[in-house]
Amino acid sequence: VNANIEGPTIYDKIIAKEIPSSIVYEDDKVLAFRDINPQAPVHVLVIPKLRDGLTMLGKAEARHGEILGDLLYAAKIVAEKEGILDGFRVVINNGPSACQSVYHIHLHVLGGRQMKWPPG
Ligand code: 5GP
Repeated sequence: VNANIEGPTIYDKIIAKEIPSSIVYEDDKVLAFRDINPQAPVHVLVIPKLRDGLTMLGKAEARHGEILGDLLYAAKIVAEKEGILDGFRVVINNGPSACQSVYHIHLHVLGGRQMKWPPG
């Protein structure tokens, strides 16, 4: 698994619009689109258009601070657009033991139902 982490992912094709996605928000740096396997009535993925080494949060360096802030702010814009500002969750799965499956950093924005804690 680790050998392929640096390689291209399905999100490259989504960014290039080579495969379709349901886009919720887009600007020059960030793309937000609906998860193909939603875990809540609202389940949107927020990704940087340029991965720039951010396969996962655990690879973040100081230079990534700006894009990480942009991703978090885009999560708020998504929550607002989806009408879940009163209650939503933002998740980053980091690595295999956290069930990360796509190695291009992404925020899950989840809402539209009562969320449980701890998440399991
Ligand atoms: P992870 O498990 O890495 O945190 O989350 C990856 C997410 O990407 C999963 O929730 C999965 O459903 C979603 N996903 C994987 N392939 C596609 C795809 O082709 N299109 C969309 N919209 N979502 C995808």
